[in-house]
Amino acid sequence: MKTWHGDEDAFNKLIDLLDKAVDRSLALPLACPVCHADRPTFHAYFHVFSPHSRRGGIWAWCSNCRSLAHLSGNIPEWWSNYPGISTHKLTRVPEYLETLATQLDVHWNEQVLKKPKRDWIFRVFVDATQERPGGIVAVAGARPEGEKRPPVGAIVSVEAAGRPHRSAVLVAYERELRGRGIAFLLSGIDRADIPSGAYVIWKPGGHGSATPPEVASE
Ligand SMILES: [Zn+2]
Repeated sequence: MKTWHGDEDAFNKLIDLLDKAVDRSLALPLACPVCHADRPTFHAYFHVFSPHSRRGGIWAWCSNCRSLAHLSGNIPEWWSNYPGISTHKLTRVPEYLETLATQLDVHWNEQVLKKPKRDWIFRVFVDATQERPGGIVAVAGARPEGEKRPPVGAIVSVEAAGRPHRSAVLVAYERELRGRGIAFLLSGIDRADIPSGAYVIWKPGGHGSATPPEVASE
């Protein structure tokens, strides 16, 4: 049997397909982007380890060529863990996940249907923040969901589990992170109000928003 492997090229192909599967709510299994086997052999799974911060593990793999990609990151709020998982059996290598691939695909397909319907134009999950003169740099490891980016000067909504929604002004874009993530400078907000796992959302005009952004009064 082939051994599990994940060079940079395979990693990028698997993660790109995972991004697409999330973005477009695609059902699994899909065709493997590495070996292009003639039957669908690509699987993926998220597992939340910390329900409060939404930190967890991300796996994408192929049953046929045994290429794998594993990351830690923030898991989307619509996702729930597969209840039949033994957490202590999870490792970087998806040997255990592969034994559950059929059930995990069914679970994935149920979960992606729970994804909230988009009413945002721009939505990004914050991985980390840094203090900077003039504001707080918010770093997101994943590319933004949505079609447009807020213009510099836009008021964005910062939404974190269990906290009142705050608003902030997007002052500048800092950089792109390997073509996937994004970092930007926010002002008018405290760093403590942008915990890891917060969403930064922009809905121009506030249509469809339960809590339209308001300018923070200092
Ligand atoms: Zn493959």
